[in-house]
Parts: sequence; C-alpha cells; structure tokens
Amino acid sequence: MDDVDRAADSDAAPPAASSDPPERPLLLLDVDGPLNPYAAGAQPPGYGEYVVTGMPAGPLRLWLRPAHGERLLSLPYRLVWATTWMHEANTVIGDRVLGLPPLPVIEWPTMFTTDDPDGLYWKTRHVAAWAAGRTFAWVDDEITAADAEWIAEHHAGEALLRQINPARGLVEEDFEALEAWARELDRGRPGTGPDTPG
Ligand SMILES: [Mg+2]
Repeated sequence: MDDVDRAADSDAAPPAASSDPPERPLLLLDVDGPLNPYAAGAQPPGYGEYVVTGMPAGPLRLWLRPAHGERLLSLPYRLVWATTWMHEANTVIGDRVLGLPPLPVIEWPTMFTTDDPDGLYWKTRHVAAWAAGRTFAWVDDEITAADAEWIAEHHAGEALLRQINPARGLVEEDFEALEAWARELDRGRPGTGPDTPG
C-alpha cells in the first residue's frame, strides 16, 4: 500500500515499551478455500496433492502448499484454526504438511446451518462469540459482505474479514494485506500515536 513507509532497517529493535508488548491480533484460518484451493481446475503450481483417509465421508483429496506454513508463521498474528476440520487441522494439515505448531481450534457447536435469520454464513456468529471482543482477521472463502457488516456492528474489537477465492487460495497479495492491516492496528494503539503526516 502506498501509505506505508518501510523503515530502512527493518531489523532495528522497536522502541522500548513502558508496559507489556501488545497482544498480536488473531488470524482465523479456514482450510478449504484459503489453504486448499478446491475450486481450481487443476493442481496449482507449488501445491501438492494429499489424500486424507479415515474420515467419515471417505478419503478426501486436498491440494496444499507446504510453503504456506512458513508464510503464515511470518505474519504478526496468533494463528487459530477456524475450519470444519477442527482438531484434525492440527494433526492432518498443520503438522504433517505445513509444519505448523499445534494451534488453537474454534470448536463449532453446530455446522453448515443455512437458516440464519440475517442470512449470515453459519460460522459468523460462532466466530464473534469465540473472539469475544478480541481483534481478529479472518480468511475464508464463504464470507460475504453481510458477514462483514454484521461483525462491524456486533463485534466490539477490530476485525478484518477477507474472502478468499477458492479457485486461487491464499496468495501473496492476501498475506501482504494482512501484514498491512496489522501495521495499521499498531499505529492506532494508545501510546504509539499515528505516523507524522507527509
Ligand atoms: Mg472454506
């Protein structure tokens, strides 16, 4: 983004803070869509094909990009699984393919419901309840503008909802947008103040 000036020395230590370091925002991760671009016509470059067995619905084929693990870990966020894979995201995907440490998991009390009175995606109210006012970004292929509006009205903290094209999955543009949003949050924190204009 053009409003961000990169420091000449990005390795420079941040100024000493007078209190504890601010908590990183949460990044809520969907699997099917963002990490598994299931709607792509063919296996995308950089992705491997993985078959998960032992699932109730039978073997599942996934495309995953192992390099996504390192990229996710480079982000200034605390990663959280927000996927119907729930705990299997840790064991089957995070650990075996992406090289991620075990991450917190949002456990859905119900899944795939389609009767939301406001037409919301079935995850949205659960996400808001789970986040409980904490700042979060959320990447998912099924988020709509209605979800973003509802979260803006009902969630006390900051939130970024980013819909990911399931034919493309997470791409560098998405990672950079997440980084930019986290930087904007940092600027808005009490005590840090905005950058000097100009
Ligand atoms: Mg999905």
